[in-house]
Amino acid sequence: MRLDLKEIINIPGGSVAFDFSPPLEEMEFDSGAAVRPGSRAIGTVRNSAGVLILNAKLEAVMDCTCARCLKSFEKQVCQDIEAVLAEEVQDEENSDIYLLEGDYIDLDEVILTAFVLNMEQRFLCSENCRGLCEKCGKDLNEGPCNCKAEIDPRLAVLRQLLEK
Ligand SMILES: [Zn+2]
Ligand SMILES: [Zn+2]
Repeated sequence: MRLDLKEIINIPGGSVAFDFSPPLEEMEFDSGAAVRPGSRAIGTVRNSAGVLILNAKLEAVMDCTCARCLKSFEKQVCQDIEAVLAEEVQDEENSDIYLLEGDYIDLDEVILTAFVLNMEQRFLCSENCRGLCEKCGKDLNEGPCNCKAEIDPRLAVLRQLLEK
């Protein structure tokens, strides 16, 4: 969605509100996660002493796959986004600045970029997920398998070190 900022671009104190559904479901992630259609971004762009500042609350539901046990699970995302909008980038180092297109800002681009920057590299169904047995594939969250006794304890220690 493109938001028209003509009314506030030269008016300190002015603000424009928005409430729309960013097309996050079109994105693909290496982790295999996907966003369900129907995500929502609610916020404002305000002219604060000549600087355009965007604030938004993003709500989305993701379908994720646990990186350890491969179980599918649902994750609620609620993210606060703040960004500066400008006609030109004066400080190349500052990546939180988004460029205007004339009097407009491309809200899709701002929300999608902020969402991706905050995205985890991998998802876990729970911090304590025990994962699958490397040998028999049993889900160790459901209880121990029978392979355990066969592992040499010295190798087990080594494996733990390697995993860290
Ligand atoms: Zn898991
Ligand atoms: Zn096993």
